Amino acid sequence: MKRTLVIANWKMNLNTHEASMLLHRYHQHIATHRDIEVVVAPSMLSLQPLSQEIDRHRFRLSAQDGYYKDEGGFTGEVSFAMMRDLVHYSIIGHSARRIYFNETLEVVREKVAAAVRNGIAPIICIGETKQERDSGETKQVIHDQLTTALRNVTSDEIENIVIAYEPVWAISTFDGEPAKPDDMKKALDYIRFQVRELYGERAAADIRVLYGGSVSDQDAAAFIGIEGCDGVLVGAASLNYAKFAGIVDAAYRVARERE
Ligand code: PEP
Repeated sequence: MKRTLVIANWKMNLNTHEASMLLHRYHQHIATHRDIEVVVAPSMLSLQPLSQEIDRHRFRLSAQDGYYKDEGGFTGEVSFAMMRDLVHYSIIGHSARRIYFNETLEVVREKVAAAVRNGIAPIICIGETKQERDSGETKQVIHDQLTTALRNVTSDEIENIVIAYEPVWAISTFDGEPAKPDDMKKALDYIRFQVRELYGERAAADIRVLYGGSVSDQDAAAFIGIEGCDGVLVGAASLNYAKFAGIVDAAYRVARERE
């Protein structure tokens, strides 16, 4: 059975001391459930200390990004090769990377390949901007972002990939408001359809597809409860341990109802 994923993206927040404190609160307040996988994505700076503090039986660590070359003269970058013993996952292609740092489809594809080659499971973020949505391009954007990101991924590797549908207009950083569950379901179904076209029925059923965008403890259950939604990627609300604990509880309630 697939485990529901609940991912905390702390974005560029918290120094190492603050990150350590928040992790401590997670340890105190977040219940452990067999069916729920909780993943913490702190800043690059905090990965090393948190890797020593985290209770690996309960939480997994994720990077928020990485560079696609394994080593060399790439001043300022950190490669997936350097993180291979630290993290289980890495977020790749987050809209903040695509928009603020001009990450192209090809760069995202190279990063996915680099993560896979280093044994790190990519959490590939895809989603359209408001302008693209208003001009009816949602499916085209999802198609282009997904097929390019997966271009070098083999049918043996697809089972370790996670796709997060994060419409840019829904992300709090861009003053977004959550998607309507109906819109989100259409996008998730389309993502699974694309995976089926590329890798077949089994891969499409097994791959975990998440929603992200202004998720809170109040509406998490409504999203996770949608058929085909395997979890949530949470930004702002994950910085509040009580809200994040509420989201994990909501995921657990939905998983129990599904059993
Ligand atoms: C994100 O940055 O991936 C995200 C989903 O953020 P928020 O929950 O703050 O909208």
